[in-house]
Amino acid sequence: MSSATVFALFATAFIALAIFYLFFYRSWRRERELKHPFPKVWRKHLRSTVPLYCQLPKRLQKILEQQIQLFIAEKNFYGCDGFEVNDRVRVAVAGHACLLTVMRSYADYDEVRSILVYPDVYRVQASERDGMVVGVSNQVRAGEASSLGQVVLAWSECESGAMQAKSPHNVILHEFAHQLDYLDGSADGAPPLSGDQAKEWQQTMTIAYDDLRHSLKHHRNSWLDPYGATKPAEFFAVLTETFYQQPQHLREQQPAVYDQLRAFYKIDPEELARS
Ligand SMILES: [Zn+2]
Repeated sequence: MSSATVFALFATAFIALAIFYLFFYRSWRRERELKHPFPKVWRKHLRSTVPLYCQLPKRLQKILEQQIQLFIAEKNFYGCDGFEVNDRVRVAVAGHACLLTVMRSYADYDEVRSILVYPDVYRVQASERDGMVVGVSNQVRAGEASSLGQVVLAWSECESGAMQAKSPHNVILHEFAHQLDYLDGSADGAPPLSGDQAKEWQQTMTIAYDDLRHSLKHHRNSWLDPYGATKPAEFFAVLTETFYQQPQHLREQQPAVYDQLRAFYKIDPEELARS
């Protein structure tokens, strides 16, 4: 065999491997992962940490379980400040995160790589710009998300909010809503949408955001956690929490906003709560 033929064979094999890795490896690995049954003890953790799981119809429970399996297999969990990440923590975080994708696509989280869990709220030094001046401030945080595929959570906040049915706060949904917002490359409160849906979203959310800021400015009771009025990205994240945690309240207060979120997440938490 001539050296040219050997080279051609190696080149062909290399290209075939590259094509497999780029286009098929991920789905092949996921199919293999889903051949394992969902562990019974994980289902027990799901029931105790993700209240909405019990309201889902069987078909959606199954999809959620599959997404949780992939999430736990693919994402790296790290405990910080001595916190021990166990299966209950993994299932709780994955369970809430995947509520956002259960009717969308699990591929929405392809860029999420790691989840850092602190035992309690944690302090960070953050730089803040005020005109030409950049200062450093100490901040206390319950969670954060980065466009580089990292989510940070305070476990005490997950337990006191996310895991309590009807609690207004759910830090896990909040931070993973930011991850969906990053999908189109900008944290602007508008997740990837196209055509008429994008136009309607823009119109509805702009009116609602202005309404929220206006009520807060005039010291009136607001229909959403005031943190949602700090910027459009936070508006979307806080709306997501309220959509899943207090759907009836959101629907009564802002039916058009509720409809936009229902169309985006392709799920109706208020109907699930009634059924
Ligand atoms: Zn946020």
